[in-house]
Amino acid sequence: MAHIAVVGTGRVGSALAYTLAFQHWVKCLTLTDINEKLARMTAEEICHAMAMNGYDTEIQADGKASEIEGADIIVICAGTARTPGMSRRDLAAKNAGIVKQIVVDTLDNNSHAKYFVITNPVDAMATLAEHVAEGRAEVIGTGTCLETVRFRTVLARELKVQARRIECYVGGEHGESSVPIWSMVSIEGIPLLDYLRAHKIALDFKKCEEYVRNISVAVIEGTGGTRWGPAGAFTEVLHGLVCNTGRVLAFSRSRVFEGIPIPVHVTVPGKIGTQNSFDIWSYITAEEREKIASAAHDIYETYRKIEGTV
Ligand code: NAD
Repeated sequence: MAHIAVVGTGRVGSALAYTLAFQHWVKCLTLTDINEKLARMTAEEICHAMAMNGYDTEIQADGKASEIEGADIIVICAGTARTPGMSRRDLAAKNAGIVKQIVVDTLDNNSHAKYFVITNPVDAMATLAEHVAEGRAEVIGTGTCLETVRFRTVLARELKVQARRIECYVGGEHGESSVPIWSMVSIEGIPLLDYLRAHKIALDFKKCEEYVRNISVAVIEGTGGTRWGPAGAFTEVLHGLVCNTGRVLAFSRSRVFEGIPIPVHVTVPGKIGTQNSFDIWSYITAEEREKIASAAHDIYETYRKIEGTV
């Protein structure tokens, strides 16, 4: 049972907090936002949602991130979100100061906490959070978690099977340099190409990739921004982190790459949980590894522009 603090209770933070409130492995939720009233009233409303259910999750709102104490996990989803036409990378300069300050403000009072970074551009922000934490806390980022659930969604539709029957991952950078890992797609254990042959399906690979890359823009245009997709997908990563499930998921950890002077956060899908270091790096194709390495260079470029400026 974990105490999870959510910093930033906007669109994504509030939806995630709502989803987390209904998990048996969450003992306590602390919500904070620079807009204190927003955090307090979000907490209040979640209490109402739970009053009729069998969950005893304790919900509290703290005024400031610096007031969070004894959290097991600190979720950072504070900052600016993109609007149509913007790249996530465009948010780096604006959000870097916010992410840095949250880590600085929370490190001392939360000595056992792990950080879970959502704020975009998430790979550069997770790299920054890790740099600021100076080894005092484990940092993971959401990486290509959303691309992965979108990949599952489109494959399920195209193959006309339930999404849960599909195993598939996207790696690399959250955004422009995401890498669909086609070599590892399987449907109930049957490799994709064998499945397509057996069922005489002509899958449009390009259409699937385009969906994964572009659906977020359509969601932003239609609803103002993503929220339920992130809430559901990130809850499963947090579940893995809290309960050490060892499930293979897409999330970012820092990694060393040739030609990059510091470890950077990039997604190589792997087992979630403290006792697991397994990832799929050795099992994907050389071409997929090259694309992920290239994404790591792109992430470092974004990070380099804000390094030393905050
Ligand atoms: P939002 O504007 O709805 O919410 C952001 C919240 O952060 C606001 O409530 C704001 O008051 C708060 N905030 C701003 N500065 C703060 C500070 N210093 N301390 C505490 N709170 C502060 O935005 P959103 O749609 O919830 O998105 C939040 C972030 O998550 C954005 O950067 C967005 O791009 C990112 N995001 C990432 C993913 C992913 O896959 N990693 C998915 C969706 C959104």
